[in-house]
Amino acid sequence: MDQVYKEKALCCGCGACKSACPYGAIEMEPDEEGFLYPVIRKELCRDCGLCQKICPFPEGKGVGSEPIFYLAKHKDARVLSLSTSGGAFTALSDAMLRRGGAVYGAVLDENLQVRHARAVTPEERDPMRVSKYVQSRLGDTFSQIKADLLEGRPVLFTGTPCQNAGLRASLGALGEKDELVCCDVICYGIPSPGAWEAYKKLLEQERGGKLKWVSFRSKALGWSRVGSNKIFQYQTSTMPVRGEDPRFYQMFFENRSIIRPSCGNCPYPQPHRCTDVTIADYWGIEKFAPRAYDSRGVSLILVSTPKGERLLKECAGDLMLEQRSAEEALSQQGRLQGPVQLPENRQEFWHILREEGLEKALSWAFPEKK
Ligand SMILES: Cc1cc2nc3c(=O)[nH]c(=O)nc-3n(C[C@H](O)[C@H](O)[C@H](O)COP(=O)(O)OP(=O)(O)OC[C@H]3O[C@@H](n4cnc5c(N)ncnc54)[C@H](O)[C@@H]3O)c2cc1C
Repeated sequence: MDQVYKEKALCCGCGACKSACPYGAIEMEPDEEGFLYPVIRKELCRDCGLCQKICPFPEGKGVGSEPIFYLAKHKDARVLSLSTSGGAFTALSDAMLRRGGAVYGAVLDENLQVRHARAVTPEERDPMRVSKYVQSRLGDTFSQIKADLLEGRPVLFTGTPCQNAGLRASLGALGEKDELVCCDVICYGIPSPGAWEAYKKLLEQERGGKLKWVSFRSKALGWSRVGSNKIFQYQTSTMPVRGEDPRFYQMFFENRSIIRPSCGNCPYPQPHRCTDVTIADYWGIEKFAPRAYDSRGVSLILVSTPKGERLLKECAGDLMLEQRSAEEALSQQGRLQGPVQLPENRQEFWHILREEGLEKALSWAFPEKK
């Protein structure tokens, strides 16, 4: 076989094909945008076709019935301030740790690259908090989870919907075990690790020193759709105080050129989820239930299966929970209704970035902001 996928826009990079290959013939390698794609080592491939058969994209099967929608807020003010939304992830992961389980989620490593990690203590779990708007490297996460499940250890996996679908595809029947709880974030689209590297370099060139801290979102002006999403903060080794920069947000949410091509074909932006539980921001809650709005953040939780419901019940001590109608959430969440639309001139952005650098690509994309 020459290639696992027909075209790049039909590969989400989950790596299910790599983990399924019985001959170790597939490697995940970055393309010129830094996104990982499967590459077949022809000398090892026996043309069994398993890689294509197992691929969960873009059919996207749901696992549960119609979800139940909840508003949720962590009762601990410190957790609220350290979380992106209302701290649902911390409560769910604490419940899993209390079961003696392992938690998997996305962290920033020492080079500020985003990758998945495993935690069996709250201290190991804490760096998984907060949204990192870059596609994370899963590495050997799926085989670690398989090993955990075979040892009888409960597991909570958190990630994008396509990463969850990849995990379930690669685990097969093992993925149906009660011990595995799959949790996704409602996902706007996933940005490129290559654009992230270029952006980090640009900040270092402009500000001097080495980038040592970043935050993709901030609650400095209070949690809200218009406020907290936009504030990217950073600090380099030579900066005495943290700085703010709007350009990553602009590339991600406004221009959308740095989003993975497959996100435009994503089958998961719908109420029927591919996971047990889904976490997100409860946008619009200030209109629907002003008494429940909290400037420190409010979570939306969708529970799609009895496994998800059981784990959420174990969070009762940590979370303020209230069942809400589906209509509310659906009216505010574009990514429960359909995939993100990528710009038609996406290729031009990348051409300029490759040939002339990110600064030029940004001036081209946002001429009015020069
Ligand atoms: C790329 C991306 C797009 C999103 N788009 C939307 C959206 O359109 N609408 C919406 O309401 N919410 C969206 N979210 C979810 C939202 O930003 C919060 O992550 C979510 O509400 C959880 O917040 P929390 O307070 O419960 O937990 P937090 O403590 O903030 O936990 C963060 C959780 O996100 C996971 N995570 C962080 N970064 C990544 C990553 N790069 N890849 C995979 N998983 C990651 C962690 O593993 C952890 O489970 C998005 C998140 C990401 C990562």
